[in-house]
This record gives sequence, structure tokens and C-alpha cells, in this order.
Amino acid sequence: MEHDVRCNPGLLKLDLYCKGLRLDDSCYIESDGGRSIMRTRAGLGSGLEAILPGGLWTNIPVVEDFAKSSPYILFREKDAYVIKRDGDMETIAPIRLSPRPPWYDRRTSNGKLMTKIGSLQGTYLGVYPAKVCEYWTETPKQNCQFCSVGLNLGVDDADEKSVEEVMEVIRAAREESGITYVDFNTGHYEGHTFLDILEPYIRRIKAETGILIGVQTPPHPDLSRYDHLKEIGVNRVSFCFEIWDPRRFVEICPGKDREYGLKTYLDAVEYCATLGMKHRVSFEPWVSNGEIIAGLEPPESSMEAIDWITSVGAIPTVCVFRPLRGTDYADVAPPKTEEMVPVFRRLYEACMDRNLPIGVAPNVHVSLVLLPEECRWFTEAPRRYAFKEMKLKALSKIFAAKFYKNLKQHDRSRASARSGVAAT
Ligand code: SF4
Repeated sequence: MEHDVRCNPGLLKLDLYCKGLRLDDSCYIESDGGRSIMRTRAGLGSGLEAILPGGLWTNIPVVEDFAKSSPYILFREKDAYVIKRDGDMETIAPIRLSPRPPWYDRRTSNGKLMTKIGSLQGTYLGVYPAKVCEYWTETPKQNCQFCSVGLNLGVDDADEKSVEEVMEVIRAAREESGITYVDFNTGHYEGHTFLDILEPYIRRIKAETGILIGVQTPPHPDLSRYDHLKEIGVNRVSFCFEIWDPRRFVEICPGKDREYGLKTYLDAVEYCATLGMKHRVSFEPWVSNGEIIAGLEPPESSMEAIDWITSVGAIPTVCVFRPLRGTDYADVAPPKTEEMVPVFRRLYEACMDRNLPIGVAPNVHVSLVLLPEECRWFTEAPRRYAFKEMKLKALSKIFAAKFYKNLKQHDRSRASARSGVAAT
């Protein structure tokens, strides 16, 4: 593994998550076409959307207190942005601002700002379609300690969103930003209504656009609901149990513990992974994700979680803990980079050792986490995985060819429908 962040963009992405970035007065992010800094959904992203060397999309902490003491400073030099290290002002890396699409400044036909319906996180669209997670509205609150969802609503995000509003934004994001994937995220609602709420969106999006769809909700107690989700075209289900250590889980996620318990999350991850192996006839891909936050428990515990998730055939999503402003954990320190490196190395190696299909979805660059395939930058044994990497590349090419053909058909049908010609 290359230990110099100037030559290792994976390590730079991780180091920036852990240390943040200061913006020099020379930066004009929005007037230079960058995205404004929003409190992105789900309590993890709040920062500067940018693209690092190697094509790694990221969301860099800039507003949290810890970022004020970052060794990294962003400068605008002529027409380019460059990260330098404080002190010797050594150049670390040139970066590009993630482009702000034209639809970010437009409104839906009923007057809502499109970014209040959905926003880009890297290259995919994230939508939080329903009301605030009910853990935030209980007395006393039962919200997860790191989460900022209840702080965001009404600020950077509209409350409930109709199917028609979401469709307007998806069409704009498809046509102007070329999105291939939309991710829905909900909190907990009494009566486990979250999948019922999402179904009308899923059906419309799939029928009209053919793009990939992901769903991140609490685990539904009726696991057969996931068979149904798969049938209607969902491609990814993600269960955020956050913490592997059972005692820390109770402390950090009191609502999740009371309503579901860690085991219910794990059962859902496993059931959905098995579902992917059962029905292989469809062209639609299906992935089960278990999501954790690294940095709120010992690294060994996060690695145990990764080992378990991959052992059942699911793919881990590993976030780096970010102490967002205003949250219960705003004053907790972010993790140290050197403690996180083995966790992300394990993420890559465990996925590769289990032959999991990582990095296959076309044009899905995620800013809020290091994707498993991006963690190849941390392995000490790249040669061991060279053949599997080749196979994955071939698989992603085959899948992309089929997928884009299908998307084009949908795009043509939409265009025909718009111009009044019957879709074929
Ligand atoms: S379940 Fe926890 S992390 Fe998810 S929205 Fe509710 S409080 Fe936030």
C-alpha cells in the first residue's frame, strides 16, 4: 500500500473524512459551478462535494469544528482547485468541484426547489421522501446519537414529497446529470409503513426510467416483503445497523434497539442476501447491504461486522463517523485515519475473497463513503486480486452494455410520449 496521500487517492479520501478541510478565501465554490454545501440526508454528509485524483468522488467535511484544525487547505489557483498542506504549503492534490447541475436552481411545477426533493450524492440521486423519522418526535427523543435527520427537515429538505414531484426531479436528473441510480431513505414509522410509502415511487420510476433503485429503511418484520420489492424492480436493499458491538448499539441507537434490536437487522441482511442467490433468472441486479459506521466502536469490532456481512453474501457499506454540527455526538472526535486503514483494507479484501460483485453498477460514484472497490488502495496484496479484478471489469462491461441499452429504450419512450407520439 502507498502511504503517501499525494500518490494514494483512496488514502486521501479517507484522511479527508477523518480530518476535514479548510477553505481559503480564494475559493468561490458556487460561482465556480460547484454544489452548495448542504446538510445531506441521513446524518452523514454535510460537506464539499468534490472529485479527487483517480476519479474518486467525495464529500469532504468543511463545516464541523474538527475541520477547522485540518492540515489540509483548499485554494483556488487560476481556474483550478488544489489542496495544500498547512505549514510547508506543499501541494497535495488537484481536485475538481462536483458539478452543480442546472436543475439544482429550478423548481418543480408546484413551486418547490428541486434540491428539496432530492440531491446528488456523488453521481446518484438521494431522496428522503417521507416525514421525519419518528425517533426524533418522541419524548424523550430516541434518535441515533450521530444522526442529523431531525435537524435537517425544513432546512435543506422539503417534508413529504409526492410521487409526481419526485418524478419531475428524477426526469431532470436523468436528462441533465445522467443518473443511473436513485436511493430512497426513510426513518422509522409506527406500523412499519416505510415500504408501503415507497412502493408507488418504485413502480413509477422503474416503469418510466429503468434506472437502478435502492431502498434504505429499517428491517420490515415480514421478510417476504423483500421478495415483493425485488419483483417490482428494487435493486438494492440496505439495512443500517451502524454498530456491531451489542452494548454500543444500545447506547448509540436507542430507537433501533427498542423497536427492532440488532438481530432483526442482521436477519434482514442475511435473508435479502439469500434472496439474491435464489432467483437469478432476472436481468435486474439485487444486492443486500449491511451498513455500519466506523469510528464509534473499536476497529476490530467494525472488522468483525465486515466479516459477518460478507460471510452471508451481503456487501458492507462502511461510513466514517462524522460529528455533525447540532447532533448529540457533535463533540465526539472523528476517528484517526491510521485506525481506519485496516477496516477499509478488510472491506476490500473480504469482498474480493468472497467473490462479491463490487464496482459493477454503471456510473455510480458515491461521495459519502469509500466504496469497497475504492478500498483496493489499501491492500498490501494487489497481485492476489488481479485476476478477480479482471473478471469484475469484464462483468461490469457486460452489465453496462445491457443496462444502457435498456435505459435508452426508456429515454426514447419518454421523449416520444412528451412529443405526443405513441411510445413503441
Ligand atoms: S433510524 Fe436513526 S439514523 Fe435513521 S433517521 Fe432515524 S434517528 Fe436517524
